[in-house]
Amino acid sequence: MNKKYKKATLLIVIVLMMGLIGYNFVNEKKAKSQDQKTTKQQINSTKENDSSKNKVQTVANNEKNREFKNVPLKYNNKSVPVIMYHSIDYEEGNELRVPKEKFREQMKYLKDNGYTTLTLEELYNFMYNNKPIPEKSVVLTFDDGYKDNYENAYPVLKEFAFKATVFIITNCIDKDKGFLTSAQLKEMDKNGVDIESHTLGHDKLSELPYDKQVETLKGSKDVLEKLLNRKVKYIGYPYGKSNSETVKAAKDTGYNMAFTTESGWSNKNQGIYTLNRVYISANHSIKEFERRISDSNYNISVSSNEKKVKVQ
Ligand SMILES: [Zn+2]
Repeated sequence: MNKKYKKATLLIVIVLMMGLIGYNFVNEKKAKSQDQKTTKQQINSTKENDSSKNKVQTVANNEKNREFKNVPLKYNNKSVPVIMYHSIDYEEGNELRVPKEKFREQMKYLKDNGYTTLTLEELYNFMYNNKPIPEKSVVLTFDDGYKDNYENAYPVLKEFAFKATVFIITNCIDKDKGFLTSAQLKEMDKNGVDIESHTLGHDKLSELPYDKQVETLKGSKDVLEKLLNRKVKYIGYPYGKSNSETVKAAKDTGYNMAFTTESGWSNKNQGIYTLNRVYISANHSIKEFERRISDSNYNISVSSNEKKVKVQ
């Protein structure tokens, strides 16, 4: 082979090799960009999945725990009026029973004046997690679980789409004619009226030893949880009576928040297991109702007569 021929062959080999390297390089680049595209697509589809998941979650959370927008809000250094009712019916001389027409007038007042009725879960999140609530918020509670709560209060609450809570004496369910039945409790609980505990037998907790307090707090909670198929986390103390052992027993048996019958708006400084409530009786005019839910210090001028009323 002559030198010229050798050189030419070497050149061809070099050119071929370079071509091959170049081809590989381009291919690799193509493959890489393909990979990147796929990864990008994967990321995008994951993002889409995530956001659709988030959407579902937001909706679900909103049902249980509403987001309050477009209204003035308040934070948990402030107080909230938690109204305490018992029976919604007329009985001459019994101020604990608020006639249906009077009750409807009060609910209409709340609606017409832009009030939001909170669930106890929402009040708890406000008190404990500082989740803001509308400045004009109230909580509606009913003690004992009288059947007129279903017959007279429930239709009005539904009419205005209001949230409320009934504290139930569980020994009375399906046994005592004057009280709510298990079917009524289930229906109300599914339609905006939360059912919570008022002990097994309307027990004066502060007069019971610790273990008996635990028994009635846990017993009533178990009955309601079985009936409603959900966690029961709140309690109204019968006669508003509690002591330091009651607070411990309520914590130990899994309650998150509890109410007395002490007059005034609820504030976290009272302790989340001994919150005050606003008493509304058959004797109160709509003006007095308005005053009690718009003045956080209304109780300073509450008559000593009212303080003597034996709340059940
Ligand atoms: Zn009671």
